[in-house]
Amino acid sequence: MERKNLRVNGKRLRAALEEMAKIGATSGGGVQRLALSDEDKQARDLFIKWLNEIGLEVMIDEMGNIFGKRAGNGKDLPPVMSGSHIDSQPKGGRFDGILGVMGALEVVRTLNDHGIETERPITIVNWTNEEGTRFSPAMAGSGVWAAKLDRDWVYGRADIHGKTFGQELERIGYKGKLRARQWPVHAYYEYHIEQGPVLEKEGKLIGAPKGIVCLHWYDIYVEGTANQVGPTPMEGRNDALCAAAEMILKVNELPAKVGGNMVATVGEIHNFPNSRNIIPDRVHFTVDIRSWDDELATRAWEDLKLDFGTIAERRKCPLRIEETWRVGHTPFEERLVKRVLEIAGQLGYSSHYMVSGAGHDASYMSQVAPTAMVFVPSIDGRSHVEVENTKWEDCDAGANVLLHCILQSASEP
Ligand SMILES: [Zn+2]
Repeated sequence: MERKNLRVNGKRLRAALEEMAKIGATSGGGVQRLALSDEDKQARDLFIKWLNEIGLEVMIDEMGNIFGKRAGNGKDLPPVMSGSHIDSQPKGGRFDGILGVMGALEVVRTLNDHGIETERPITIVNWTNEEGTRFSPAMAGSGVWAAKLDRDWVYGRADIHGKTFGQELERIGYKGKLRARQWPVHAYYEYHIEQGPVLEKEGKLIGAPKGIVCLHWYDIYVEGTANQVGPTPMEGRNDALCAAAEMILKVNELPAKVGGNMVATVGEIHNFPNSRNIIPDRVHFTVDIRSWDDELATRAWEDLKLDFGTIAERRKCPLRIEETWRVGHTPFEERLVKRVLEIAGQLGYSSHYMVSGAGHDASYMSQVAPTAMVFVPSIDGRSHVEVENTKWEDCDAGANVLLHCILQSASEP
């Protein structure tokens, strides 16, 4: 068969995704596979079984990142790498992350079917804790691997039950011996659902993001004074939840206030002691700010901090702020982004040049290797929810683009 007519096996890709979707399946049709949970372990075990079945060399590093390497003819050449993540959000979807891992697996299976050898090795990867929902920050496995996050700091991050990343990694048996430290990579491709409405709105099949917006994460702790709600007059209360409520609205109003292209969100809140007849004395909430313009995001935060300070003072609720995590906006490798668009065209798919509003492991990878992503549409633009969905034929199309991107890069001397 002529190379250009090569296509992935869509049925097999679908079967792999459906098999994975059983692990941590939720009643609403999604999955819950939190990082380093029993479900994460189960999905990892299955992934490794599949890697072994096709004869790949399996490696696990000290962050639990899993690599499956298919040899190339030029043995010492840096590989082409492709993958994403197996973990999910709480009550998340069946495509986020796992599509990129199963897509890369399907690419290698297809090459094997046709006995196609490549000059460069091809390495499939599953990055640990991309979501950052159980343990913050997100993209922890790729971040340490790319030497942008400190390994021991990540090991010490705790979930809401006080279990640490390091303990849980060991518990599920995925603390590998290999050092989590980057090696030369010729090209990194990450295949992912769009997680937004743009492709659907534009009526386009393949998205080629020019890069990822910056991600700034903050943790805010507000303190108040607890008391019996009945006998305590309204006047003079230090209600931590009311202070937080005012602050949360300031976050929501921020993008309109500073202008430019920015989104700002409070997605998580913990109220203590969380009893209907006690005035709240402690609130913890998160702030997420994203923009293509790092400086705008930073200025907006400085502005927001002033507002937070004013509210805290007026309500006499002391404030503690943790600047948890910052990743600058990430431009991808132009040459590879163009390749995604070109290959989409050659395969007869419509395509769209865009920006990714979601963070991905590709963000850290692009800091150490030439990187690009392939997007396919999310139905109704929904993601991180159980109804997250993508048409099977769109999954195939994206995998075909990935196949030819990988083939081209792996053929380069
Ligand atoms: Zn993802």
